[in-house]
Amino acid sequence: MRDTLADPPYQGISKACLKSFQDRLEIEGLELKRSKPAILQINVGKLCNLTCMHCHVNAGPGRKEIMGIDTMARVLAWFNSTNIQKVDITGGAPEMVPGFRFFIDRIREIRPEAQIIDRCNLTILLESGYEGLAEFLAERRVEIVASMPCYQPENVEAQRGNGVFDVSIQALQLLNSIGYGKNPELRLNLVYNPLGPSLPPDQSELEADYKEALRATFDIEFDQLYTITNMPIARFLAYLRRENRLDEYMDLLVENFNPAAVEGLMCRDTISVDWQGRVFDCDFNQMLNLPFRGNEDLYLWDLSPLSFEGGPVQMASHCFGCTAGAGSSCGGSLD
Ligand code: SF4
Ligand code: SF4
Repeated sequence: MRDTLADPPYQGISKACLKSFQDRLEIEGLELKRSKPAILQINVGKLCNLTCMHCHVNAGPGRKEIMGIDTMARVLAWFNSTNIQKVDITGGAPEMVPGFRFFIDRIREIRPEAQIIDRCNLTILLESGYEGLAEFLAERRVEIVASMPCYQPENVEAQRGNGVFDVSIQALQLLNSIGYGKNPELRLNLVYNPLGPSLPPDQSELEADYKEALRATFDIEFDQLYTITNMPIARFLAYLRRENRLDEYMDLLVENFNPAAVEGLMCRDTISVDWQGRVFDCDFNQMLNLPFRGNEDLYLWDLSPLSFEGGPVQMASHCFGCTAGAGSSCGGSLD
């Protein structure tokens, strides 16, 4: 931990200021502005086969919000007008959206060399009706970023539901069997997030533990582990409120503010798009409905790719989740 609220250089500054993310950046002499867009992150919908406790999307089997083919076509046309090289597809379980395979195929056609990421919950790969999904992803060289909050069943199931650990292990073995985590063109990264209101441990140390445990017990290989801080929004916020631990968690995030993490925040170079095509600074702002540039209904196709650079970012107290400790982004710790 760097400075606590009582330490210099914060003496004389009210706690309220330190708890406002924007004020905190100013006190630190930092600025958060957008740079050139490098990542197009598309949340294709809130439909999911799981209902995890930490889910910032409030995703689940009953959700109806999913991207239709017409919206996909408009997003693809916009993408084609850019030279963005990284497309990050998230949800929900993106693979449950009926146009998912069409979307991946068109992205590959438009930009054969692009890095395409599927944020996958693993269990969907073994659900009935999704046969051949893992092979489909491998054939299109789609990178998989998979949630796996622990290498032990109790912790995974406490967070994600009964039976999820065993199915996740089977899915990882399936992915390994077709080259994921072994062939450098088929990257398989795992995501850890803490079970409760604490900060993630050191990413590289935890990655070494994961690798050792998964290899020894299940003969599983993967590329990298990303540690991601739980954001105090949506389902995790409801949990914090239920447990009466929201203040404690916010204090933890604020007290562990790390100015060095600001430079790498994903809202600088990522464009976040929702299932309707609306633009946000990040997936978290999207879930909070914090409008891009304060404009409620700004669609991707209303914006020139050149108009992002230098623009403002909509910030609020949840942003402390991205700057606490080692920092946190969709690509793991920012250290
Ligand atoms: S965390 Fe992922 S797998 Fe879990 S409910 Fe949310 S979208 Fe689904
Ligand atoms: S929550 Fe979003 S806007 Fe706030 S710091 Fe994190 S990435 Fe940036």
